[in-house]
Amino acid sequence: MSTLKFAVLAGDYIGPEVMSAALRVLEHVARQEGLKLDYTAAEVGGAAIDRHGSALPASTLQVCEAADAILFGSVGGPKWEKLPTKEQPERAALLPLRKHFTLFANIRPGLLYPELTDASPLKAERIPDGIDIVCIRELTGGIYFGQPKSTTTLANGDIEAIDTMVYRKSEIERITAVAITAARGRKKQLCSVDKANVLETSVLWRKTVSDYVAAHAPDLKLSHMYVDNAAMQLARDPNQFDVFLTENMFGDILSDEMAVICGSLGMLSSASLGARDNSLGKPFGLYEPAGGTAPDIAGQDLANPCAQILSAALMLRYSFGLDSVARRIEAAVRQTVTSGTRTGDIAFGRAAVGTTAMTDAIIAALD
Ligand code: NAD
Repeated sequence: MSTLKFAVLAGDYIGPEVMSAALRVLEHVARQEGLKLDYTAAEVGGAAIDRHGSALPASTLQVCEAADAILFGSVGGPKWEKLPTKEQPERAALLPLRKHFTLFANIRPGLLYPELTDASPLKAERIPDGIDIVCIRELTGGIYFGQPKSTTTLANGDIEAIDTMVYRKSEIERITAVAITAARGRKKQLCSVDKANVLETSVLWRKTVSDYVAAHAPDLKLSHMYVDNAAMQLARDPNQFDVFLTENMFGDILSDEMAVICGSLGMLSSASLGARDNSLGKPFGLYEPAGGTAPDIAGQDLANPCAQILSAALMLRYSFGLDSVARRIEAAVRQTVTSGTRTGDIAFGRAAVGTTAMTDAIIAALD
Protein backbone atom coordinates (compact mmCIF):
# COMPACT_ATOMS: atom_id res chain seq x y z
CA MET A 1 0.00 0.00 0.00
CA SER A 2 1.51 3.39 -0.99
CA THR A 3 1.76 5.90 1.84
CA LEU A 4 1.16 9.57 1.12
CA LYS A 5 3.04 11.62 3.69
CA PHE A 6 2.14 15.28 3.63
CA ALA A 7 1.90 18.34 5.85
CA VAL A 8 -1.47 20.04 6.28
CA LEU A 9 -1.23 23.80 6.82
CA ALA A 10 -4.83 25.00 6.85
CA GLY A 11 -4.23 28.62 7.94
CA ASP A 12 -6.95 31.15 8.73
CA TYR A 13 -10.64 32.01 8.21
CA ILE A 14 -11.97 29.72 5.43
CA GLY A 15 -8.62 27.86 5.30
CA PRO A 16 -9.60 25.17 7.86
CA GLU A 17 -13.12 24.81 6.35
CA VAL A 18 -11.97 24.08 2.81
CA MET A 19 -9.01 22.04 4.09
CA SER A 20 -11.30 19.67 5.97
CA ALA A 21 -13.34 19.28 2.75
CA ALA A 22 -10.17 18.38 0.80
CA LEU A 23 -9.11 15.89 3.48
CA ARG A 24 -12.53 14.20 3.36
CA VAL A 25 -12.14 13.80 -0.42
CA LEU A 26 -8.58 12.50 -0.06
CA GLU A 27 -9.64 10.00 2.59
CA HIS A 28 -12.40 8.75 0.33
CA VAL A 29 -10.16 8.24 -2.70
CA ALA A 30 -7.50 6.69 -0.49
CA ARG A 31 -10.00 4.05 0.64
CA GLN A 32 -11.05 3.45 -2.96
CA GLU A 33 -7.52 3.25 -4.33
CA GLY A 34 -5.83 1.39 -1.50
CA LEU A 35 -3.64 4.34 -0.50
CA LYS A 36 -2.58 5.19 3.05
CA LEU A 37 -2.69 8.85 4.13
CA ASP A 38 -0.08 9.91 6.65
CA TYR A 39 -0.63 13.60 7.22
CA THR A 40 0.33 15.96 10.03
CA ALA A 41 -1.43 19.26 10.65
CA ALA A 42 0.55 22.31 11.76
CA GLU A 43 -0.29 25.96 12.38
CA VAL A 44 0.64 28.68 9.92
CA GLY A 45 -0.21 32.34 9.34
CA GLY A 46 -2.41 34.19 11.80
CA ALA A 47 -3.25 31.02 13.75
CA ALA A 48 0.48 30.45 14.28
CA ILE A 49 1.07 34.08 15.28
CA ASP A 50 -1.64 33.75 17.94
CA ARG A 51 -0.30 30.47 19.29
CA HIS A 52 3.48 30.69 18.74
CA GLY A 53 4.19 34.38 18.07
CA SER A 54 5.37 33.76 14.49
CA ALA A 55 3.59 33.07 11.19
CA LEU A 56 5.95 30.19 10.37
CA PRO A 57 7.16 28.61 13.62
CA ALA A 58 10.11 26.20 13.62
CA SER A 59 7.74 23.37 14.66
CA THR A 60 5.66 23.91 11.49
CA LEU A 61 8.77 23.99 9.33
CA GLN A 62 9.85 20.67 10.88
CA VAL A 63 6.52 19.06 9.96
CA CYS A 64 7.00 20.28 6.37
CA GLU A 65 10.61 19.05 6.28
CA ALA A 66 9.50 15.56 7.27
CA ALA A 67 6.79 15.42 4.55
CA ASP A 68 6.79 14.71 0.82
CA ALA A 69 4.44 17.64 0.07
CA ILE A 70 2.57 20.50 1.71
CA LEU A 71 -1.17 20.96 1.35
CA PHE A 72 -1.71 24.63 2.17
CA GLY A 73 -4.96 26.52 2.82
CA SER A 74 -4.59 30.29 2.98
CA VAL A 75 -3.42 32.78 5.55
CA GLY A 76 -4.13 36.29 6.76
CA GLY A 77 -7.10 38.49 7.45
CA PRO A 78 -8.30 41.57 9.34
CA LYS A 79 -7.22 40.22 12.73
CA TRP A 80 -3.53 40.60 11.85
CA GLU A 81 -3.66 43.58 9.46
CA LYS A 82 -2.26 46.04 12.00
CA LEU A 83 0.98 44.11 12.44
CA PRO A 84 4.10 45.53 10.74
CA THR A 85 4.11 44.41 7.07
CA LYS A 86 7.05 42.05 7.55
CA GLU A 87 5.21 40.18 10.32
CA GLN A 88 1.89 39.83 8.51
CA PRO A 89 0.77 36.25 7.86
CA GLU A 90 1.16 36.07 4.07
CA ARG A 91 4.51 37.83 3.92
CA ALA A 92 5.92 36.07 6.99
CA ALA A 93 4.70 32.56 6.14
CA LEU A 94 4.36 32.06 2.39
CA LEU A 95 7.46 33.90 1.14
CA PRO A 96 9.77 32.15 3.66
CA LEU A 97 8.21 28.77 2.80
CA ARG A 98 8.83 29.38 -0.91
CA LYS A 99 12.38 30.42 -0.16
CA HIS A 100 13.11 27.61 2.32
CA PHE A 101 12.01 24.86 -0.08
CA THR A 102 13.13 26.73 -3.24
CA LEU A 103 9.61 26.46 -4.64
CA PHE A 104 10.63 27.99 -7.95
CA ALA A 105 7.87 26.73 -10.25
CA ASN A 106 4.32 27.94 -9.81
CA ILE A 107 1.81 26.07 -11.96
CA ARG A 108 -1.64 27.64 -12.12
CA PRO A 109 -4.35 26.10 -14.26
CA GLY A 110 -6.77 28.72 -15.61
CA LEU A 111 -9.85 26.60 -15.99
CA LEU A 112 -13.43 27.72 -16.59
CA TYR A 113 -15.96 25.01 -17.44
CA PRO A 114 -18.22 25.94 -20.40
CA GLU A 115 -21.20 25.62 -18.01
CA LEU A 116 -19.74 28.42 -15.85
CA THR A 117 -19.03 31.07 -18.49
CA ASP A 118 -21.48 33.34 -16.61
CA ALA A 119 -18.84 33.57 -13.87
CA SER A 120 -16.37 35.27 -16.20
CA PRO A 121 -16.36 39.02 -16.77
CA LEU A 122 -15.56 38.23 -20.44
CA LYS A 123 -18.41 38.12 -22.96
CA ALA A 124 -19.71 34.54 -23.28
CA GLU A 125 -19.27 34.61 -27.09
CA ARG A 126 -15.50 35.07 -26.63
CA ILE A 127 -15.24 31.89 -24.55
CA PRO A 128 -17.95 29.54 -25.88
CA ASP A 129 -15.95 26.52 -24.69
CA GLY A 130 -14.90 28.06 -21.39
CA ILE A 131 -11.21 28.63 -20.68
CA ASP A 132 -8.48 26.03 -20.40
CA ILE A 133 -4.95 27.43 -20.14
CA VAL A 134 -1.98 27.09 -17.79
CA CYS A 135 0.33 29.76 -16.37
CA ILE A 136 3.85 28.73 -15.36
CA ARG A 137 5.37 31.44 -13.18
CA GLU A 138 8.95 31.59 -11.91
CA LEU A 139 8.53 32.06 -8.17
CA THR A 140 11.85 32.55 -6.41
CA GLY A 141 13.77 35.00 -8.58
CA GLY A 142 13.30 38.39 -10.19
CA ILE A 143 12.46 41.66 -8.54
CA TYR A 144 10.76 40.21 -5.44
CA PHE A 145 13.97 38.63 -4.19
CA GLY A 146 16.78 40.55 -5.96
CA GLN A 147 19.29 42.57 -3.93
CA PRO A 148 19.87 45.40 -3.21
CA LYS A 149 16.52 46.50 -1.90
CA SER A 150 16.44 49.75 0.02
CA THR A 151 14.68 52.98 0.86
CA THR A 152 17.03 55.93 1.45
CA THR A 153 16.49 59.58 2.31
CA LEU A 154 18.76 61.57 0.02
CA ALA A 155 20.83 64.63 0.97
CA ASN A 156 18.22 66.94 -0.62
CA GLY A 157 15.44 65.38 1.48
CA ASP A 158 13.95 63.36 -1.37
CA ILE A 159 13.36 59.66 -0.75
CA GLU A 160 14.63 56.93 -3.07
CA ALA A 161 13.47 53.30 -3.08
CA ILE A 162 15.28 50.56 -5.00
CA ASP A 163 14.27 47.04 -6.00
CA THR A 164 16.54 44.91 -8.15
CA MET A 165 15.46 42.53 -10.89
CA VAL A 166 17.94 39.68 -11.27
CA TYR A 167 17.81 36.43 -13.25
CA ARG A 168 20.43 33.80 -13.93
CA LYS A 169 20.48 31.57 -16.99
CA SER A 170 20.25 28.49 -14.75
CA GLU A 171 17.08 29.81 -13.07
CA ILE A 172 15.48 30.43 -16.46
CA GLU A 173 16.48 27.00 -17.73
CA ARG A 174 14.95 25.10 -14.80
CA ILE A 175 11.58 26.89 -15.07
CA THR A 176 11.63 26.36 -18.85
CA ALA A 177 12.05 22.63 -18.22
CA VAL A 178 8.87 22.65 -16.09
CA ALA A 179 7.00 24.56 -18.80
CA ILE A 180 8.15 22.06 -21.43
CA THR A 181 6.73 19.16 -19.38
CA ALA A 182 3.43 21.03 -18.95
CA ALA A 183 3.23 21.88 -22.67
CA ARG A 184 4.01 18.30 -23.70
CA GLY A 185 1.09 17.09 -21.57
CA ARG A 186 -1.25 19.42 -23.48
CA LYS A 187 -1.19 20.94 -26.99
CA LYS A 188 2.61 21.24 -27.30
CA GLN A 189 2.37 25.03 -27.54
CA LEU A 190 4.41 27.28 -25.29
CA CYS A 191 4.28 31.08 -25.16
CA SER A 192 7.06 32.81 -23.22
CA VAL A 193 6.13 36.25 -21.89
CA ASP A 194 8.76 38.92 -21.21
CA LYS A 195 9.64 42.58 -21.74
CA ALA A 196 12.71 42.04 -23.91
CA ASN A 197 12.23 45.40 -25.63
CA VAL A 198 13.17 47.15 -22.36
CA LEU A 199 14.68 44.87 -19.71
CA GLU A 200 18.12 43.18 -19.68
CA THR A 201 16.72 40.28 -17.65
CA SER A 202 14.07 39.77 -20.32
CA VAL A 203 16.67 39.71 -23.12
CA LEU A 204 18.45 36.91 -21.24
CA TRP A 205 15.06 35.26 -20.55
CA ARG A 206 14.06 35.22 -24.23
CA LYS A 207 17.42 33.92 -25.47
CA THR A 208 17.63 31.26 -22.77
CA VAL A 209 14.07 30.00 -23.34
CA SER A 210 14.65 29.91 -27.12
CA ASP A 211 17.96 28.04 -26.83
CA TYR A 212 16.66 25.61 -24.20
CA VAL A 213 13.51 24.71 -26.13
CA ALA A 214 15.49 24.34 -29.38
CA ALA A 215 17.92 21.98 -27.64
CA HIS A 216 15.51 19.97 -25.48
CA ALA A 217 12.02 20.27 -26.97
CA PRO A 218 12.13 20.90 -30.72
CA ASP A 219 8.70 19.18 -30.85
CA LEU A 220 7.10 22.22 -29.18
CA LYS A 221 5.77 25.29 -30.95
CA LEU A 222 7.41 28.16 -29.07
CA SER A 223 6.29 31.79 -29.32
CA HIS A 224 7.26 34.96 -27.43
CA MET A 225 5.08 37.87 -26.37
CA TYR A 226 5.70 41.15 -24.54
CA VAL A 227 3.95 41.27 -21.18
CA ASP A 228 1.85 44.35 -21.98
CA ASN A 229 0.49 42.61 -25.05
CA ALA A 230 -0.04 39.37 -23.08
CA ALA A 231 -2.20 41.26 -20.56
CA MET A 232 -4.38 42.51 -23.44
CA GLN A 233 -4.50 39.17 -25.24
CA LEU A 234 -5.60 37.36 -22.06
CA ALA A 235 -8.63 39.64 -21.86
CA ARG A 236 -9.30 39.49 -25.63
CA ASP A 237 -8.90 35.79 -26.41
CA PRO A 238 -7.46 33.75 -23.51
CA ASN A 239 -7.60 30.41 -25.33
CA GLN A 240 -4.99 31.58 -27.85
CA PHE A 241 -2.58 30.57 -25.06
CA ASP A 242 -2.21 26.99 -24.05
CA VAL A 243 0.74 27.09 -21.67
CA PHE A 244 2.39 30.43 -21.00
CA LEU A 245 5.65 30.87 -19.13
CA THR A 246 6.81 34.02 -17.42
CA GLU A 247 9.01 35.52 -14.70
CA ASN A 248 7.95 36.22 -11.12
CA MET A 249 6.38 39.69 -11.15
CA PHE A 250 4.79 39.38 -14.61
CA GLY A 251 3.39 36.01 -13.52
CA ASP A 252 2.00 37.49 -10.31
CA ILE A 253 0.00 40.00 -12.31
CA LEU A 254 -0.98 37.83 -15.29
CA SER A 255 -2.02 34.87 -13.12
CA ASP A 256 -4.37 37.13 -11.15
CA GLU A 257 -5.81 38.49 -14.39
CA MET A 258 -6.26 34.88 -15.46
CA ALA A 259 -8.04 34.12 -12.16
CA VAL A 260 -10.49 36.97 -12.74
CA ILE A 261 -11.40 35.92 -16.27
CA CYS A 262 -11.89 32.35 -15.02
CA GLY A 263 -14.63 33.46 -12.60
CA SER A 264 -14.61 32.52 -8.94
CA LEU A 265 -11.42 32.23 -6.94
CA GLY A 266 -13.15 29.30 -5.28
CA MET A 267 -12.44 27.15 -8.36
CA LEU A 268 -8.73 27.81 -8.96
CA SER A 269 -5.92 25.62 -7.70
CA SER A 270 -2.14 25.96 -7.85
CA ALA A 271 1.04 23.97 -7.40
CA SER A 272 4.47 25.34 -6.45
CA LEU A 273 7.18 22.82 -7.15
CA GLY A 274 10.56 22.78 -5.47
CA ALA A 275 14.10 22.34 -6.68
CA ARG A 276 14.55 19.14 -4.70
CA ASP A 277 12.82 15.79 -5.03
CA ASN A 278 10.87 14.21 -2.16
CA SER A 279 11.52 10.76 -0.70
CA LEU A 280 9.62 9.22 -3.64
CA GLY A 281 11.87 10.87 -6.24
CA LYS A 282 9.04 13.25 -7.26
CA PRO A 283 9.11 17.05 -6.91
CA PHE A 284 8.48 18.33 -3.39
CA GLY A 285 5.67 20.86 -3.70
CA LEU A 286 3.25 23.19 -1.97
CA TYR A 287 -0.36 23.04 -3.15
CA GLU A 288 -2.84 25.81 -2.43
CA PRO A 289 -5.98 27.53 -3.72
CA ALA A 290 -5.45 30.71 -5.75
CA GLY A 291 -7.73 32.73 -3.46
CA GLY A 292 -7.19 34.04 0.03
CA THR A 293 -8.91 33.49 3.37
CA ALA A 294 -12.25 35.12 2.35
CA PRO A 295 -12.99 36.57 5.83
CA ASP A 296 -16.33 37.89 4.51
CA ILE A 297 -17.77 34.37 4.25
CA ALA A 298 -15.71 32.48 6.86
CA GLY A 299 -17.40 30.29 9.47
CA GLN A 300 -20.74 30.14 7.63
CA ASP A 301 -20.38 26.99 5.52
CA LEU A 302 -20.38 29.21 2.41
CA ALA A 303 -16.87 28.71 1.00
CA ASN A 304 -16.43 26.86 -2.25
CA PRO A 305 -14.18 23.86 -1.43
CA CYS A 306 -13.30 23.09 -5.10
CA ALA A 307 -10.05 25.09 -5.28
CA GLN A 308 -8.68 23.28 -2.22
CA ILE A 309 -9.87 19.89 -3.48
CA LEU A 310 -8.35 20.54 -6.92
CA SER A 311 -5.10 21.60 -5.20
CA ALA A 312 -5.08 18.23 -3.43
CA ALA A 313 -5.50 16.59 -6.85
CA LEU A 314 -2.44 18.49 -8.11
CA MET A 315 -0.51 17.20 -5.09
CA LEU A 316 -1.40 13.63 -6.02
CA ARG A 317 -0.32 14.27 -9.62
CA TYR A 318 3.01 16.04 -9.09
CA SER A 319 4.37 14.98 -5.68
CA PHE A 320 2.98 11.43 -5.59
CA GLY A 321 2.88 10.54 -9.31
CA LEU A 322 -0.81 9.53 -9.07
CA ASP A 323 -2.07 11.17 -12.26
CA SER A 324 -5.04 8.82 -12.73
CA VAL A 325 -6.29 9.45 -9.17
CA ALA A 326 -5.88 13.20 -9.70
CA ARG A 327 -7.93 12.94 -12.89
CA ARG A 328 -10.69 11.10 -11.02
CA ILE A 329 -10.94 13.92 -8.46
CA GLU A 330 -10.93 16.55 -11.22
CA ALA A 331 -13.69 14.67 -13.05
CA ALA A 332 -15.78 14.40 -9.85
CA VAL A 333 -15.50 18.17 -9.25
CA ARG A 334 -16.44 18.90 -12.83
CA GLN A 335 -19.38 16.50 -12.78
CA THR A 336 -20.66 18.00 -9.52
CA VAL A 337 -20.43 21.59 -10.70
CA THR A 338 -21.85 20.97 -14.16
CA SER A 339 -24.74 18.93 -12.75
CA GLY A 340 -25.79 22.04 -10.83
CA THR A 341 -24.58 21.46 -7.26
CA ARG A 342 -22.84 24.74 -6.54
CA THR A 343 -21.82 27.04 -3.73
CA GLY A 344 -23.05 30.64 -3.81
CA ASP A 345 -20.03 32.06 -5.65
CA ILE A 346 -20.90 29.99 -8.77
CA ALA A 347 -24.66 29.52 -8.36
CA PHE A 348 -25.89 32.53 -10.43
CA GLY A 349 -29.42 32.65 -9.11
CA ARG A 350 -29.79 28.89 -8.63
CA ALA A 351 -30.25 27.47 -5.16
CA ALA A 352 -26.80 27.27 -3.62
CA VAL A 353 -25.45 24.56 -1.33
CA GLY A 354 -22.94 24.96 1.49
CA THR A 355 -19.32 23.79 1.73
CA THR A 356 -20.32 20.52 3.41
CA ALA A 357 -23.06 19.60 0.92
CA MET A 358 -20.78 20.47 -2.01
CA THR A 359 -18.11 18.18 -0.59
CA ASP A 360 -20.68 15.41 -0.04
CA ALA A 361 -21.71 15.72 -3.71
CA ILE A 362 -18.09 15.52 -4.92
CA ILE A 363 -17.52 12.43 -2.78
CA ALA A 364 -20.72 10.88 -4.18
CA ALA A 365 -19.48 11.63 -7.71
CA LEU A 366 -16.30 9.68 -6.95
CA ASP A 367 -18.31 6.51 -6.33
P1 NAD B 1 -9.80 36.60 -1.02
O1 NAD B 1 -9.32 35.76 -2.13
O2 NAD B 1 -9.74 36.02 0.34
O3 NAD B 1 -11.33 37.01 -1.31
C1 NAD B 1 -11.72 37.75 -2.47
C2 NAD B 1 -13.19 37.42 -2.78
O4 NAD B 1 -13.27 36.10 -3.28
C3 NAD B 1 -14.08 37.48 -1.54
O5 NAD B 1 -15.34 38.00 -1.88
C4 NAD B 1 -14.21 36.02 -1.12
O6 NAD B 1 -15.41 35.74 -0.45
C5 NAD B 1 -14.14 35.30 -2.48
N1 NAD B 1 -13.57 33.96 -2.33
C6 NAD B 1 -12.27 33.62 -2.18
N2 NAD B 1 -12.14 32.30 -2.01
C7 NAD B 1 -13.40 31.80 -2.06
C8 NAD B 1 -13.95 30.50 -1.95
N3 NAD B 1 -13.17 29.42 -1.74
N4 NAD B 1 -15.30 30.35 -2.05
C9 NAD B 1 -16.10 31.39 -2.27
N5 NAD B 1 -15.64 32.65 -2.40
C10 NAD B 1 -14.31 32.85 -2.28
O7 NAD B 1 -8.99 37.98 -1.10
P2 NAD B 1 -8.92 39.19 -0.08
O8 NAD B 1 -10.28 39.47 0.50
O9 NAD B 1 -8.21 40.24 -0.81
O10 NAD B 1 -7.96 38.69 1.07
C11 NAD B 1 -8.39 38.19 2.34
C12 NAD B 1 -7.17 37.77 3.14
O11 NAD B 1 -6.55 36.66 2.48
C13 NAD B 1 -6.09 38.87 3.22
O12 NAD B 1 -5.59 38.89 4.53
C14 NAD B 1 -5.03 38.42 2.25
O13 NAD B 1 -3.76 38.84 2.64
C15 NAD B 1 -5.15 36.92 2.34
N6 NAD B 1 -4.66 36.20 1.16
C16 NAD B 1 -3.95 35.09 1.39
C17 NAD B 1 -3.47 34.35 0.31
C18 NAD B 1 -2.68 33.10 0.59
O14 NAD B 1 -2.68 32.63 1.70
N7 NAD B 1 -2.04 32.53 -0.41
C19 NAD B 1 -3.75 34.76 -1.01
C20 NAD B 1 -4.53 35.91 -1.20
C21 NAD B 1 -4.98 36.63 -0.09
